[in-house]
Amino acid sequence: MKAIHKLIETLRQKMPVKSLRLQIFLLLLVMGIVPGFIVGAGIVRNYEARAVENRITTVQGQLKIVANHLLSNDYLTNYRPDEQAFRTNAEVINAELEMLANLYEGRVMIIDSNFKVILDTYEISEGKIMISEEVVKCFKGENISHYDSEHGYIEMTIPITDTTANAVGNGSIKGVMLTSISNSSIVTMMEVLNRRVILIETLLALVVVTLAIIVSVMMTRPFNRITEAIKDVTAGYSDESISVPDYVETIHIVDAFNQLLRRMRTLDASRQEFVANVSHELKTPMTSMKVLADSLLTQKDAPAELYREFMEDIVSEIDRENRIITDLLALVKQDKKSKDMTIVSLNINELVELILKRLRPIARKKDVEVVFESMRSVVAEVDEVKLTLIITNLVENAIKYNKDHGWVKVELDADHQFFTCKVSDSGIGIPEDALEHITERFYRVDKSHSREIGGTGLGLAIAKGAVLQHKGTLTVESVEGEGSTFTVKIPLNYIAGQQG
Ligand code: ADP
Repeated sequence: MKAIHKLIETLRQKMPVKSLRLQIFLLLLVMGIVPGFIVGAGIVRNYEARAVENRITTVQGQLKIVANHLLSNDYLTNYRPDEQAFRTNAEVINAELEMLANLYEGRVMIIDSNFKVILDTYEISEGKIMISEEVVKCFKGENISHYDSEHGYIEMTIPITDTTANAVGNGSIKGVMLTSISNSSIVTMMEVLNRRVILIETLLALVVVTLAIIVSVMMTRPFNRITEAIKDVTAGYSDESISVPDYVETIHIVDAFNQLLRRMRTLDASRQEFVANVSHELKTPMTSMKVLADSLLTQKDAPAELYREFMEDIVSEIDRENRIITDLLALVKQDKKSKDMTIVSLNINELVELILKRLRPIARKKDVEVVFESMRSVVAEVDEVKLTLIITNLVENAIKYNKDHGWVKVELDADHQFFTCKVSDSGIGIPEDALEHITERFYRVDKSHSREIGGTGLGLAIAKGAVLQHKGTLTVESVEGEGSTFTVKIPLNYIAGQQG
């Protein structure tokens, strides 16, 4: 099992391309052919063992008959070669043994209880003493037969047993027949059988190879279909989701691909929308400037004050254009994800104080009161520039979209995991249906009002992006005409890793 594993692993590494089709093909090939070869080898082996066993039983049976003849003629106990009657009987027995020896291409020796060879069909050992292990064991009642396939013979001992009543136990064994016969007929049969097995195995291998090719091609076809479908989508022939419902696995792959496709289409749509919005936003100040410049050009002898007034308007439009470009650059930079985060451990109370100090002059212009309520001292791991951007944007909006003589409240609190910064105002509020859109790029509830007060529609989009980079959340509650509350919740410890 380990060896097969090793073989498969080596094959895999050696394979220039990891082809699923090739792997299925090889697997089927191994599974189809190896058992066939094992069964074939088993059949041949089994046949050999059975044939040897049969041969031994047959020979033993025939020799036993001869052994009975020997006994009935007192061949062993009353060996009298000088007597005519004995000789006639002995010749018959000798002829019988000769015939058997010829039939089985072997040799038969008859050994009496004194281990003397009385008869040898090869006529070599007659009169000699033969004390071999097999003979001794046979006298003790143990029958021996053994097959030597290397030298091509089967050796066996047959006891010559006296079954009359006065002979009991081992004493009843009057002699032993030591026989060895050739296995040539078995070998011939084995050769025939082997040829047949090889023929069948070759046919089986051909069938298995053909089947393995067909099955491996069929099994991997759905993957080709997926590739074709993806190519079609890439080439733009098809705008729809692809479908290859052949296997559960292909359904999963295709589902994942369709999800990716949908995401790409959404991204593409939002990119197009963004480009359209950017062009529009950048064009608006340009159009105003052109109108202003045109009207000056078409007016002959325009007074210097008009020139001045229009020039001031043109400068403010340029400022606006500049603001939009600056915000856009901030957004683009943010899209490069959290790689450029500079995380430091910061006292948030001090940061908020500083921001509010900077913004109070603007608030004063609208007579808006800015209050800071800190529940506790908060130290957190944040990007200082980005967090400043978030809080500045929220407080700026709270002042911008406030009523005259209104108020802005900034509350800072923390638990063991997060800190929250809540910016509430007594301003104009946000209509309910606009709440979910206000963090979208270029979205403004009241376009002309926002533009009047210098908004670009990008502030909250930038703030939300920066909050997400801190793995935090930005939520809004608002009642139109009464005021709004923006809540930023950020982990005290910066969680590096995947971008939200
Ligand atoms: P802008 O540059 O226009 O302020 P923002 O992205 O900061 O863009 O805000 C988007 C819109 O959300 C604003 O145009 C405004 O209509 C609305 N808004 C934001 N903050 C407030 C607030 N505190 N009160 C009322 N409306 C707000």
